[in-house]
Amino acid sequence: MSRVYNFSAGPSMLPESVLKKAAEQMLDYEGCGQSVMEMSHRSKVFAKIIEDAEKLLREIMNIPDNYKVLFLQGGGSSQFAMVAMNLMNKNKKADYIITGQWAKKAWKEAARYGDARAVASSEDKTFSYIPKTTRADFRDDADYVYICMNNTIYGTVYHELPDTGDIPLVADISSCIMSEPIDVTKFGLLFAGAQKNMAPAGLTIVIVREDLIGNAMDITPTMFNYKTHADNGSMFNTPPCYTIYIAKLVLEWIKNEVGGLENMKKINDQKANLLYGFLDSSKLFKGTVVPEDRSLMNVPFVTGNDELDAKFVKEATEAGFVNIKGHRTVGGMRASIYNAMPVEGVEKLVEFMKDFEAKNS
Ligand SMILES: *Cc1c(COP(=O)(O)O)cnc(C)c1O
Repeated sequence: MSRVYNFSAGPSMLPESVLKKAAEQMLDYEGCGQSVMEMSHRSKVFAKIIEDAEKLLREIMNIPDNYKVLFLQGGGSSQFAMVAMNLMNKNKKADYIITGQWAKKAWKEAARYGDARAVASSEDKTFSYIPKTTRADFRDDADYVYICMNNTIYGTVYHELPDTGDIPLVADISSCIMSEPIDVTKFGLLFAGAQKNMAPAGLTIVIVREDLIGNAMDITPTMFNYKTHADNGSMFNTPPCYTIYIAKLVLEWIKNEVGGLENMKKINDQKANLLYGFLDSSKLFKGTVVPEDRSLMNVPFVTGNDELDAKFVKEATEAGFVNIKGHRTVGGMRASIYNAMPVEGVEKLVEFMKDFEAKNS
């Protein structure tokens, strides 16, 4: 068996030890004679799985008691409407910072339900930087300020959060959840689709301050109301059981094998520094993002020549570095180096890039 290094933006790699454990437990989960895929979500065995997953997430992310953790479906994209329907409820106003396509989609969706305003954007330079904002940019009566923390397509990240005063800050952390420690108390709400850094597709995690729950707009469908899920321990209906189980295994991996988010960040820094260090010294390849806003997770780069980019992608794929083609709006390449990408994968990629550079310049 030979496994490739998968640089996909999502769904993406899972830790090998997690896949092995899931394979081991496939036919008979802990002696109960069935797989987690088959069991009732109301069974004692599954109740323990979802409880453990929540406990581990709270411990690893240091989530305070006055925040609810919800295990939902519908992906990050459903949250674009759900956030607005649940939180744009006092003055029907929300301020959005447009740092890429995901933030833009969230803003457009929110604009269907209230006065959603784009307060800043980096679209003028293909979203290659994070626009600077101050408290004065946000409306005093905004119900929340919305950011996309890590911009998966463009490879930018907020290294420093915008100052929103006492306006609740909402962040899409789909592509950076658990990549480094995060101060949850700085946010009113965090959400993430699981398929980038946590689990297979199908699970969406919402971490929401309790006082923001319970005031959804009247038109909010029952399934889109955070209260529905908060009141029912994410068991109002059938949750994505198997994906929650894999998330639990990934959380155990972070806790026991990696040693928590401080260590996770060290490893992620090491991988990102390797790649950015090479890009900064290369005569052929260059990164597309301003250095101060570079993502630890998604690294877009180009040669400046479309044919050479295509040749690189083709040869990289043949050498076992797959899904490294860039997003169509940026072109070139993008290496997504999420938590589960081993350091060795980035080392080998950089070797391959050096070799390609030597042969093609
Ligand atoms: C992938 C992604 C999304 C979309 O997630 P889905 O689960 O496909 O709806 C939203 N935001 C960010 C930052 C993403 O990376």
